[in-house]
Amino acid sequence: MIRWFLALGMGMGMLAATNSASAVDEVTPNVVLGIHGGIGEDKKDMTPELEEKVRAALHAALKAGKAKLDGGGSGLDAVEAAIRVMEDDPVLNAGKGAVFTHEGRNELDSSIMDGKTKKAGAVASVTIVKNPISAARAVMEKSKHVMLIGRGAEVFATRQGLEIVDPAYFWTEFQWKAIQDVWKKEAEAKKQSGDASDVLEIPIAKPHYGTVGAVALDKDGNLAAGTSTGGMTNKMFGRIGDSPIIGAGTYADNETAAISCTGHGEFFIRYSVSHEIVAQIKYKKVSAKEAVEDVINRQLKDINAEGAAIVLDKDGKFTTARNSEGLYRGWITADGKFQVRVYDE
Ligand code: ASP
Repeated sequence: MIRWFLALGMGMGMLAATNSASAVDEVTPNVVLGIHGGIGEDKKDMTPELEEKVRAALHAALKAGKAKLDGGGSGLDAVEAAIRVMEDDPVLNAGKGAVFTHEGRNELDSSIMDGKTKKAGAVASVTIVKNPISAARAVMEKSKHVMLIGRGAEVFATRQGLEIVDPAYFWTEFQWKAIQDVWKKEAEAKKQSGDASDVLEIPIAKPHYGTVGAVALDKDGNLAAGTSTGGMTNKMFGRIGDSPIIGAGTYADNETAAISCTGHGEFFIRYSVSHEIVAQIKYKKVSAKEAVEDVINRQLKDINAEGAAIVLDKDGKFTTARNSEGLYRGWITADGKFQVRVYDE
């Protein structure tokens, strides 16, 4: 048992990226919807085919979210619609396309928050819910709770009439290959260390990130944020990251901003990243850009915690910050002008 904790602790430390990047996007005014599809692949591993698929997924998500807003829908409707599109796209690590756990399963986490009422909903470790973001929203709107996990979340989602799938639905060749790769490396490392333990988790050099998220501002001035993920490749079963944790991976507050994060979840939980950004805007009276830069590119960077956040403030100003090489991201203004980016462009 002790050895297990030591191994996991060591893994967490070593999983932290030795990143040196630091980037922000310019502040864009009049944005009604911003999205991300995670940090994604390092440039050296990116192929033109994959990049094209990523860009298409982001574009489709922006279109779906904007259509909701144009039809008079709320920020919550836009966030849910955009995230559902990304969950259904196998190229991103959420819904179909989720990463595998150490045990070879897919366990999904998601959350959503309403900036007007500060109501929130989340599900974690679900294995049969096709669109976890809709389950998170149902928890927020149709239950007395904020977070449901595992079997309870699945029974609740079923009773709510949400689409239920066989766990095999989430399987993709891309992620299956990724976990096979990790298992191979683990086996080699175990052989070398002479450790026959079954539970030793060998940290992998570069975990696969690809969480999705969205932030929106509707015509009534209401902000919303949501995040959805398969988590981190090779996570232990039952491990829950920041994405379904309100104040860590997701936060929305009409007085300040809506935020969705991606990156190494353990650090985002420990640093309460999304709430820290909101708190800086509120109490330090800094801009959303200054706040997100401080948290992502100073606080997290200083401890080698890789990650990024997208922020839409109450006035419709959108920006992002990342200490990773890339961030799959996009945003769209009220008059329909959109941007989709992967690295620095
Ligand atoms: N933040 C997610 C987690 O730790 C992973 C990611 O963003 O890709 O579960």
